Amino acid sequence: METDRIERRELFHSGKANNVYFTNHPEYLELESSDRISAGNGAKTGVIVGKGVANNIISSAIFNKLEEKGVQTHYVGPGSNEASKIVKKATPILLEVIGRFKAAGSYVKRYDVPDMMPFDPVYIEYTYKSDAAGDPLIGNDAIIANGILTRRELGYVEYVTERVAHVIKDFFAECNADLVDFKIEFGRLPNGQIIVIDEISPDTCRILDKKTGKSLDKDRFRKDMGEVAETYSEVAQMVLKLKGPGNTTN
Ligand code: C5P
Repeated sequence: METDRIERRELFHSGKANNVYFTNHPEYLELESSDRISAGNGAKTGVIVGKGVANNIISSAIFNKLEEKGVQTHYVGPGSNEASKIVKKATPILLEVIGRFKAAGSYVKRYDVPDMMPFDPVYIEYTYKSDAAGDPLIGNDAIIANGILTRRELGYVEYVTERVAHVIKDFFAECNADLVDFKIEFGRLPNGQIIVIDEISPDTCRILDKKTGKSLDKDRFRKDMGEVAETYSEVAQMVLKLKGPGNTTN
């Protein structure tokens, strides 16, 4: 879709890692990836220069790929600068949907299982997006009982998440990286359609260099591993080298 006639207007919302702007089009917003970084629900924060541009390159390429594979998303096209994209306005569904190919992070802590224990098929779990409740894990029955999704919608979200999981895994495999886990979010369009929203980037995925096992994501910040900016930019460079329509960003 043409986005050249879409113009950024005032700030709508500023989140932990993104800024969202109104546009001159009532159905579209501009989503700008920022250099802000946070971990542990805001307990640790920082600024990584260049992260916003890198994440937008990576996220736009992934959303292009999802659209190419027939997954409905909020992605419309490039935004007014290198860190931003135009997206469809959707009402966020208050869930974080986590897909795991291997055990890591909070899963390993919670169950004391070996790091990198594989899952087949991809393991899907949900957390409830609520600062007041502390973003707890939420089971299928509570998602339905709390009126977040109907049983039918939950089945759809699970089906789409499995598809997204394989698209992201194949995408990063082309960049010589192994996808360990990821988080995605969903929203509702005014016509009720459920689509994938937000950003998909090294802020929201765990990825490891296939050859060296080097961490290529936010774990570098969480665990003070250093070279955070360099690593995000390395992943963005790998994405830009990919061939095909999926690499069109700006
Ligand atoms: O550490 P944890 O196991 O909870 O994270 C699983 C995956 O979900 C990781 O890739 C992490 O970056 C992502 N995640 C996220 N936002 C959160 C929680 C997790 O992007 N609020």
